[in-house]
Parts: sequence; C-alpha cells; structure tokens
Amino acid sequence: MPAAPQERYSGYSQGLDRIEGVISSASKMSKIEPFVVKIAETKLDTAGVQKFIEKYSATDWYNRVRPTQPNETEFLIELAGRACYKSYGVGLNPNVTKIREDSRDYITNVLAKGDGSILEHATVTFAFLNVSRVTTHEIVRHRAGTAISQESLRYVRPQEISLWLPPDLQKVSREFEEVVQQITESYRELESKFDWEKMTFEEKKRVTSALRRILPDGIATNIVWTANHRTLRWVIEMRTDPSAEVEIRKVFDQVAEICIRDYPLLYADFEKAPLPDGTFQYTPKYSKV
Ligand SMILES: Cc1cc2nc3c(=O)[nH]c(=O)nc-3n(C[C@H](O)[C@H](O)[C@H](O)COP(=O)(O)OP(=O)(O)OC[C@H]3O[C@@H](n4cnc5c(N)ncnc54)[C@H](O)[C@@H]3O)c2cc1C
Repeated sequence: MPAAPQERYSGYSQGLDRIEGVISSASKMSKIEPFVVKIAETKLDTAGVQKFIEKYSATDWYNRVRPTQPNETEFLIELAGRACYKSYGVGLNPNVTKIREDSRDYITNVLAKGDGSILEHATVTFAFLNVSRVTTHEIVRHRAGTAISQESLRYVRPQEISLWLPPDLQKVSREFEEVVQQITESYRELESKFDWEKMTFEEKKRVTSALRRILPDGIATNIVWTANHRTLRWVIEMRTDPSAEVEIRKVFDQVAEICIRDYPLLYADFEKAPLPDGTFQYTPKYSKV
C-alpha cells in the first residue's frame, strides 16, 4: 500500500536544491534564493457552521464527521459540496438513497467527477520572496481564482539589486556577478543625479519609475499571491511541468509540497517525479477539475 501523501512528502524543504544568486550593492555581494511561505488560509466560523448544519438538519453528520476531519479547508469544501444534494445523510433529500460516508471518498469522487467549483470556497495565501520579475510575470498570467499584491518598482526604489543565479549560468557565475555589479553601479550613477532630499513623494515616484527601465528582468522581488484550491491544482500542474521555466518550477515545487502536506485529501492524487535538474514534476490523476 502506498504511503500517505503527507508521509511521502515530509521534509520537503530539505528536498529542494538551494538556489543561489547575488545581491549587489556598493559594499556587499551575497547569495540569494527564492522561497515560498504560506501566510494565510481559509478558516471556519464555527458558530456559523452550527447554524448552517441546524438549518440542513445535518447535526448527526456533523457530529460524526467533524471529529475525524480537523482540517478546516477540507471540511468546508465537503460541507459546501454536500449542500448541493443535501447529502449529509439518507432521507434529507428523498431522491438520495445512499451517501459517501467517508471524507476521503467524498473528496476523491469530487475530483474524479471534475466538480472543481467547490474547491473555490477555500484559498491559500503565499508570499513568494526573492523571486525574479521573470517569474512574477509568468505567475500573473494565471487570472482565474487569484489575488496578487506585488512589490512596486514604481514606488519602491531598490536599495539592493539582487539576482538569483540560474543553473545554466553557473559556469559563468563570476562574469554574472560582474554584470550585476556593473548594472548596480550604472543605476547608482543615474540615481545620484537627482537631489532626492528635495523631491516630493510624487517626484520621487516618477523618477523611480523612470529609473527602473534599466533594471534587469531578473531582479529579485516579492509578491503575495492568493489562489483557491481549484486554481492551485491547475497552476501546480502547469508550472512544475518540465517545459516550464526553471525558477517558477522551483517556486511551485515548494507550493506543491505545502499543499500536499497541509491538505492531504485535496492533493492525494498528485504524483511526484524527479526531473534531471533536481526539480520535481507534480502530476495529478485528475487534471483541471
Ligand atoms: C510551459 C509554458 C509555456 C508558456 N509559454 C508562453 C508563451 O510563449 N507566450 C505566452 O504569451 N504565454 C505563455 N505561457 C502562458 C500561458 O499561455 C497562459 O497564459 C498561462 O499559463 C495561464 O494559464 P491559463 O490560460 O490556463 O489561465 P488561468 O488564468 O490559470 O485559468 C485557468 C483556466 O480557466 C479558464 N479560463 C481562464 N480565463 C478564461 C477566459 N477569459 N475565458 C475562458 N476560460 C478562461 C481556462 O480553462 C484556463 O485554463 C506559457 C505557459 C506555460 C506553462
């Protein structure tokens, strides 16, 4: 029997290659790497859930299922999904003569049937830190079911110009660092032509925005990204595909590990396969629910 997903994938952070890069400022050069932090997720309102199950005469179901399903996200999705047919128990809907008793069976059936809309009830919010503008540009292409807050290079004047070093440039890492240093010096040179102390906030914003045009696409930045679980399943599949760009694959490797760890029923059908460059591909049995 295969191990439970949370066992198979435990220790995920150690499984990811370290990602190296350079921070270049007038005085220092150091390594950076993109990383993912989960900062929020959907929570139940317990008093509201009680009112809801009373309305649906689903107290027996609640008392049986809730103690065995402490995961609030997965419980919410099952609660919402069962409202469609009143399938909290036999007899609540005269047309229903049999129900799936077990939460795992219920969610697996939802995925198998492609009833993905109920996965939209719950979201996860991630911070993607030290990721390049290359990667954020690709992330924001996913429109459905997402919310995005990206650090503004219009308002925020960079104090450091940091770049992750892609593995394909490892053999020219010294030259790469020199280029980053040159860009930094050129940026500082242009920046120094303005008397920032005397400028209004509006003027600073305008010039900061103008100056960013000479910054590289690879500049490390931060983005807060929220997605519902229907979207997450799809984006993990697309962005860990071997044809996706290496940095975004590194980022979504981490997203996949967090989702598999924290929502084991919703991601139970994902298979993890190593790729030659040290990243992993995560393929669901049920694609695009
Ligand atoms: C390996 C790879 C290579 C790529 N190369 C390129 C490239 O060369 N050039 C380029 O421009 N882009 C490229 N992309 C981006 C790609 O074209 C998509 O824009 C991106 O992956 C977003 O995915 P999505 O279209 O599924 O949209 P999402 O916003 O993630 O939407 C999810 C799903 O919802 C449905 N949906 C969303 N919006 C609508 C809508 N308005 N109408 C109808 N249905 C909708 C669709 O079924 C869609 O698949 C690439 C992506 C990958 C993964």
